[in-house]
Amino acid sequence: DTIGDDLDRTVARVPDNDALVEVQTGRRWTYRELQKAVDDLATGLLAAGLTVGDRVGIWSPNTAEWTLTQFATAKIGVVLVNINPSYRTHELEFVLKQAGISTLVSASSFKTSDYEKMIAEVRANCPALQRVVITGSPEWDALAAGDASRRDELAQVQASLTADDPINIQYTSGTTGFPKGATLSHHNILNNGYYVGRTCGYTEADRVCIPVPFYHCFGMVMGNLACSTSGATMVIPAQGFDPKATLHAVQQERCTSLYGVPTMFIAELNDPGFGDYDLSSLRTGIMAGSPCPVEVMKQVVDRMGMTEVTIAYGMTETSPVSTQTRADDSVERRVSTVGRVHPHLEVKVVDPETGRTLPRGEPGELCTRGYSVMLGYWEQPEKTAEVIDRARWMHTGDLAVMDDEGYLNITGRIKDMVIRGGENVYPREIEEFLYTHPDVVDAQVIGVPDERYGEELCAWVVLREGAAPLTADTLREFATGKLAHYKIPRYVLVVDEFPMTVTGKVRKVEMREKSVGLLD
Ligand code: ATP
Ligand code: MG
Repeated sequence: DTIGDDLDRTVARVPDNDALVEVQTGRRWTYRELQKAVDDLATGLLAAGLTVGDRVGIWSPNTAEWTLTQFATAKIGVVLVNINPSYRTHELEFVLKQAGISTLVSASSFKTSDYEKMIAEVRANCPALQRVVITGSPEWDALAAGDASRRDELAQVQASLTADDPINIQYTSGTTGFPKGATLSHHNILNNGYYVGRTCGYTEADRVCIPVPFYHCFGMVMGNLACSTSGATMVIPAQGFDPKATLHAVQQERCTSLYGVPTMFIAELNDPGFGDYDLSSLRTGIMAGSPCPVEVMKQVVDRMGMTEVTIAYGMTETSPVSTQTRADDSVERRVSTVGRVHPHLEVKVVDPETGRTLPRGEPGELCTRGYSVMLGYWEQPEKTAEVIDRARWMHTGDLAVMDDEGYLNITGRIKDMVIRGGENVYPREIEEFLYTHPDVVDAQVIGVPDERYGEELCAWVVLREGAAPLTADTLREFATGKLAHYKIPRYVLVVDEFPMTVTGKVRKVEMREKSVGLLD
């Protein structure tokens, strides 16, 4: 099935259910209304001359127009290229050129960025770019109103598509370097959205609060497609992440599910107004994207009432989810693992050097295989060959351990592992430990170069307001007797926040560079 066919099936099943709610503007669409808006926009895109395989970029924060564009492009086989809303001219130009985008949909401004001005700056350098449409402008209105005479053409184009066609290019978060354009098919992302919805137990009664970005698969697949495949409601709390707006949206829309990366949940739980919101409608949710501290997970269950909350693990290249905990997994399992493999996918843990499959319990590189593996990196066959082997296994670059019952634990990224004086140290383990300190709200551990040991551990910590300062000495006192000496960070930096990607991932590469400057 294609994404368009699947949407039509949901509309036939639950036409009057809420499909999409934009809380800040009060706009809402039922499934029948969503289908009309999507089909109109799709005919508008056809009238603008777009054909199967063309690339349309979207550079916008989370808005209803984002979702409409997602479904309208899928209906006519146009490849949607998600562009990170916090990109600036250099990155924008890179993506416009790399993906050969002919039409760019954007918003006029967001937070500190003036999109129109930045587009004007790069436009001359991007000859393939023929059209820029700013949502809310008269051009957008004309496109969205569509062309009724093209209804038959739309039906024909939709019927001609196949599920293995590319439909989406998503650039990876760029946590480890320059982003790469993972090219995904209908089959890749639609199935993944479907199985995420199934794992969360979604029905048309569910209302899912999506504060995570649409430009990332967390928002567009685990959010929008998990909802559209199950007839649930997509709730957009705000254009960008805001803890108060998120809590407000949950309360107002009686959301049953809430998404976030761990840092978002931390911000919500620590918001001074947290206690003022009625979150009693929450049943489930997904925490994903980076390792979730056990303590945060416990609070999400106890204080937010998300008793069925799941943890998902995945990556852009695999559409994204590969493993997820289930509501009936024990709380212990749900706080300490990323669950078991999703239906119709395979996972294995291998020795990164030899490629040999390791026995259960031994850490190694996680590999995944199945319908979810991307078609490849857009126009980068060499890069694709580095990560997908001949047997179609995706080598994730993540370190994992699998237990006897198939539960996986992600212990870090191969690139983040710190080797101190010959000892392998997994930053994740130290971060978990730092969370047990009563004053520590958030913590990250990285390796910094050291003449004597090769690398030394450096902890970046965010402290509770009014806490006494944490120094390397006071941390050593706290950790001695609890952690092996070589795992106790030599350096401590107290900060207000970490350098983040817009997906809420910590940029450890940047932290390593900055630390070196800050330490001497
Ligand atoms: P880039 O590939 O450009 O460096 P990235 O890998 O951060 O960026 P994404 O595809 O957004 O880009 O993120 C996937 C990665 O996020 C995974 O490979 C893994 O390292 C991490 N991750 C995702 N979910 C979890 C989780 N539940 N627990 C631990 N790590 C996770
Ligand atoms: Mg990656």
